[in-house]
Formats: sequence, C-alpha cells, structure tokens
Amino acid sequence: MPARILYVPFDHLNRHRGVLRTADPATDVVVLVESERMVSGRPWHPERLFFLVSSARHFAADLRAEGFDVRYVRAATTIDGLETVRAEIGTLPVVCAEPSSFQQSRLLAEWGADYVPNDFFLTSRPLFAQWAATQKTFVMENFYRAQRVRLGILVTNGKPEAGQWNFDADNRLPPPKNYTWPPYLEHARDDIDREVAAELGHEPTTTWATTRAGALAQLDRFISVHLAGFGPYEDAIAADNWALHHSLLSPYLNNGLLHATEVITAALDAYARGAAPIQSVEAFVRQIIGWREYINGMYWFLGEDYRNANELAADRPLLPVFTDSRKTRMNCVGSVVAGVEARAWVHHIPRLMVLSNLALLTGTNPQAFLDWMREQFIDAAEWVMVPNIIGMATHADGGQLMTKPYAAGGAYIKRMTEFCKGCAYNPAKRVGPDACPFTTLYWDFLDRHRDTFARNHRMAQQFAGLNRLVDLPELRVRAREVRDGLEAGTI
Ligand SMILES: Cc1cc2nc3c(=O)[nH]c(=O)nc-3n(C[C@H](O)[C@H](O)[C@H](O)COP(=O)(O)OP(=O)(O)OC[C@H]3O[C@@H](n4cnc5c(N)ncnc54)[C@H](O)[C@@H]3O)c2cc1C
Repeated sequence: MPARILYVPFDHLNRHRGVLRTADPATDVVVLVESERMVSGRPWHPERLFFLVSSARHFAADLRAEGFDVRYVRAATTIDGLETVRAEIGTLPVVCAEPSSFQQSRLLAEWGADYVPNDFFLTSRPLFAQWAATQKTFVMENFYRAQRVRLGILVTNGKPEAGQWNFDADNRLPPPKNYTWPPYLEHARDDIDREVAAELGHEPTTTWATTRAGALAQLDRFISVHLAGFGPYEDAIAADNWALHHSLLSPYLNNGLLHATEVITAALDAYARGAAPIQSVEAFVRQIIGWREYINGMYWFLGEDYRNANELAADRPLLPVFTDSRKTRMNCVGSVVAGVEARAWVHHIPRLMVLSNLALLTGTNPQAFLDWMREQFIDAAEWVMVPNIIGMATHADGGQLMTKPYAAGGAYIKRMTEFCKGCAYNPAKRVGPDACPFTTLYWDFLDRHRDTFARNHRMAQQFAGLNRLVDLPELRVRAREVRDGLEAGTI
C-alpha cells in the first residue's frame, strides 16, 4: 500500500536529489503535474516549453521503468493535479523538496505539502544567509573565495591554485580571427519528443537534450572539446558561432537533470589530467560555485518584494524589437534577439551587454523586461532571473547586488563583438543620424541619472568623460530621437 505521495516539480528532475533521494517504489507514488498555467499561462517560447515538458515526460518514463507508480497529471494548476491524485489513491501525505520560488513555496505549504530540504544547490539557504549576514556589501567575489575554501576547490592550505583566485586578466579576449569553432552536439529526437512537439505544434531544434543521458553527453562534450578554451573567449560575441566555448549546461542544471557537483567534478578531473588550463577551469568553476550559488542565495536572502524594485523609476514599455528581431536596424540587437528567437538562448554577454544594456539605457520598465526574459529563455526560472535582471542587469535594486550599473556604449560592443561591421550605425559617434544608439544612450543615461550616480567613486571616470562632452544639448535631442525610433521600430 502506498504511504506517501512524492511531488516532483519540473525543475527537480533528479533521481538522487530532493524528495526522490529517499524514494521507494514499494511505498511511494510519484506525481508530476503538467499544469495549464505552466503550459499556456504566458507566451512562453515554444522551445523552452518543449524542453521542460519533454524532459519531465522522459523523467516520468525512467521512474516507471524503475518500478515506480508514476502519475503524470494534466490539470489547471499544480494543486488541482495533486488533489486529483489524492482523490484516486487516498489522502496520503504529500512530500516535496523545498520549491525554487517564493510563490510556489507559499502555495504548496498553505495547501499542506511537507518539505524536505532543497539540495539542488551546493549552498543551503540558511548557510548563504549566514554568509550574507556578515557582509557590508554583497560582493560576489568575496562569496566565491569563501566557497572555494569551504568546498576545498582549487585551494591548498587556504591558498588559491596557481597563486591567484581569479584569472580574468588573462581572459576577456575579443572574438578570435580565423578560428575554427568545434561543432556543438546535436540531440536526436525520440518518440516522446515527437509527441510533445506535435502537441505544442512546434518544430524543436536539436540543440537541447531532454534526457539525463543527453545532458550527460552535453557535459562530456563540453569537458572534452570546449572547457580548455572557455576562459579566453568567455566574454566575446562572435558572428560565426552562437555558443563559442560556453557549456550550454544551464537548462539541465536548472531542471535537475544535472547537479553542480558532477559538473564541477568533471571540470576538476580535466584540470588534474592536464586537459584544460587553470584560467579556463577557474573561470568555469567560478560560474558554477560562485555566480550560480550566489544568485540563488541572494534570491532567497533579498526576499519576495525584491522582484518589484524599480529604483531608477524606469517606466518605458517593452520595446518592439524584443518581440520581433526585425524591428531594429541595430545589427547587434537584431542579431541577438534573432538568436533568442531561434533557440531560446544566448550566452551571458549578449544577455547582459546587449539586451539588458538596451533595457537599462532606454529606461525600460524592469518588470516588463524581466517578464520577457523569463518567458523567452530556455534556462529561465524565477530564482535566477529575478536577481540577474533586477540586480545585475537593470540596477533596479539601487545597487544591492552590483556597485555600479552595467551600462556600456558602442565602443564596448565594437571591442567584444563583430556586429559593428556593416551596421547602419557608427559606434564612435554619439550625435547625428548614424550615431550608434548605444553610444548616444550611454551618455544620455549618465546625464539623466547624474544625481544618483555622480558620487559613486567607481563611476568617477565615466562622469569625468560626461563632463568633458561639449555637445550635450545636441546629444539629449538625439537621445530622444533614438528612444522614439526604437519605440517605432525604425532605429
Ligand atoms: C540578464 C541575465 C539573465 C540571466 N538569466 C539566466 C537564467 O534565467 N538562467 C540561468 O541559468 N542563467 C541566467 N543568466 C546567467 C548566464 O547568462 C547563463 O547561466 C548562461 O548564459 C547559460 O549558458 P551556459 O550554460 O553555456 O553558461 P556558461 O557560460 O557555460 O556558464 C556555466 C554555468 O554558470 C552558471 N552561471 C553563470 N553565471 C550565472 C548567473 N549570473 N546566474 C546564474 N547562473 C550563472 C550557469 O549555471 C551556467 O550554466 C542570466 C544572466 C543575465 C546577465
């Protein structure tokens, strides 16, 4: 007789973590709920929806093969789905690992679910809160160094491997010339994929795996082919390759198919074998044990209201280019949005320095931008999008996460990307009809927010530059034209 109902959300798809850690086919019924709210509640990118649903159905099939009674239920809401199962098999206790968002945690707890700790991260929520409580400012680098020591990764007797905590000075190269990028893995589609694709009316790419085996194959491909080159080109955007040496592992880390521990172990093994240099291994390790853990920790530490912050009073509605890549003549923005349209993913720098930079500089409402990013990206989830958008990308939190906004003009785009060649706009110009909109808007942003940022000593150089501008009145006029043109889809 079953004794427990184990509820597995679509981002806890791991046999050895969360509520399944102690699962037993003899006593536990496993429930997954494909809720209407999740599938059709928002204009989700179909590639994202396909990935999440197909991964969950594959996972359910794997558990059945292991002997579990698995109820994969379609219902209006998660709670309706759980009620349906209870009506079928009796009012058994429902157990779940702590959900990954405030909203779901509250809803399920109020309904009566019991929680086991969420072990999908390396840092528990109380442990992170302990670290944060001792900090004056929440600098990620400080958290990361503490993580290295705590987890014993690339440290000996408290000292960093190869004498440095961070090798960014060796990285941050622009896109290489005459470079052959290794091909990325293609993931063949099976019957479950085809069934989900047909239901959604979507023709999926072969970019994303929907099984544990596929996720492991992606990890293997990253370690064997890309890890060694990860560091140097981490921040570049190439015209001839959409992924460079990025791992493409975020979707699986976020839906549970992979755990950070196995990803880190694989990278450290490669380093121990001499298959990848320290500047790449350290840079990758920093993303996983540093950034990813820090973002999750900060989501829980900062609280539910943090999502609504709008300290720069940015109230512009979402620009049309975000929903249609053809609605701009800016080569960088159009190309990056086209990448999102194609595969629901672009790497960190296009997210930050192109999409978010545009939202920040145009004064786009941070919550409107957050909603769009949340709907479009394959790896999006509340815990990860909220601090990345509200804190890192749009500075809507007044600097709780970052000491200064990530605002950049066309010169940055020119240095780190190949988009400026053949673009209608000139990154070196800030006024005139062919001025790069990023360059114009960058100075205009500093000008508009002088009162907020002028006393920030990390921005002293930027304001010294602004104070030297002799064409500020003309620039303000051009900035208005640029904003209007972006709103009309003509810039
Ligand atoms: C505005 C903005 C929004 C973002 N939204 C998301 C999101 O919804 N989901 C998501 O997983 N990442 C998000 N990121 C972080 C990062 O861009 C992606 O994790 C990364 O591009 C995923 O591709 P990858 O797996 O090839 O990453 P790699 O470059 O190979 O990095 C390895 C891993 O590091 C982790 N990581 C690195 N930076 C971050 C970060 N800032 N936050 C969380 N994890 C990080 C990811 O798990 C990633 O898989 C966002 C960043 C920005 C600037």
